[in-house]
Amino acid sequence: MLAQVRSAALWGLEAFPVECEVDVGPGLPGFVLVGFADPAAREVRERVWPALRNAGFLPPDRKVTVNLAPAERRKEGASCDLAVALGVLAATAQVPPERLARTAAIGELALDGRLRGVRGTLGLAEAAWRAGAMTLLCAAEGAPEAALVGGLTVHPIANLGEAAAWLRGEPLAAQAPAPSDEEPAPADDLAEVRGQVVARRALEIAAAGGHHLLLVGPPGAGKSMLARRLPGILPALTAEEALTVTRLHSAAGTRAPGRGLMVRRPFRAPHHSVTPAGLIGGSSPPRPGELSLAHHGVLFLDELSEYRHGLLDSLREPLESGAVHLARASGRASFPARTLLVTAMNPCPCGWLGHPRRGCHCTPTQRASQGRSSTASISRSKCPH
Ligand SMILES: [Zn+2]
Repeated sequence: MLAQVRSAALWGLEAFPVECEVDVGPGLPGFVLVGFADPAAREVRERVWPALRNAGFLPPDRKVTVNLAPAERRKEGASCDLAVALGVLAATAQVPPERLARTAAIGELALDGRLRGVRGTLGLAEAAWRAGAMTLLCAAEGAPEAALVGGLTVHPIANLGEAAAWLRGEPLAAQAPAPSDEEPAPADDLAEVRGQVVARRALEIAAAGGHHLLLVGPPGAGKSMLARRLPGILPALTAEEALTVTRLHSAAGTRAPGRGLMVRRPFRAPHHSVTPAGLIGGSSPPRPGELSLAHHGVLFLDELSEYRHGLLDSLREPLESGAVHLARASGRASFPARTLLVTAMNPCPCGWLGHPRRGCHCTPTQRASQGRSSTASISRSKCPH
């Protein structure tokens, strides 16, 4: 017997709909998975079979073939586990297939049959909705994100048994969540800063005009304290920007589970030991870098002269175009990068050049090399906010 269950999968930040086709046919007991899955997705049988057994169902003792369509797209993660399990149950007539027609199932199964949330639930729910799903079964921790997709009915599910009971027509324990905003943490406020008239004015001009900024001052002058307060004076995220930021951070796995819409602009401050892939993005499956995680927000690079040679140069093109384009052997990926860059550095290697009471001990060569290595790399472009 054949069953089809809608689901969705991620590759990098990109979510796309997946049709899980499960065929249970004659032949020696066995399991074949086709459909270009990465290792976590290939292990689906090792999770789904114990989950079925421990939830009180019978794993089939015949030949099972699972196809994750479209077969030509790579898939990462375990977001299709629940759909595969429900497909097996439908193909072995353990649940009726009627409710599966317009329903998508997203989530990773624990061996005891519990449903776990997955990265990128917002994007996955949108992909399922675009592909025609009207109802979504997903883990409770991803439900507030999925509820942001207008028109999609979201059912938070605790375990496989609950999903199967719902397919048999029984009511669900948990209510569908209403769309909600993430609880905003109290923002660092520029109004708390006393003095620093010139620096505050510079921040205001940078915020108003979308200009990148370099703060130069001795240690303890409050450079990072000031930079941290820049997101607070930027305009509020528009509804569309908030969705974009939420989708991005959900797929990147930088959010705590169970949160709704992100309403605050991101502030990212990577350490100067950050790698090129950590700053710009990379690896396989492709992961966004700090630059893209600061999309629609602020990227703060402190101790600018400490960043490895060439790293700052690689920021210039993405900052000008507003996007990072990666071409790797494993495929191409594009990440957004509309980011306001704030950098900070000491005026010289010892930090005290120009200080009214402390003297600078650097040689002229040291001072010159610090200025060249960092400021020469900073883009003069305007942030395309
Ligand atoms: Zn010095």
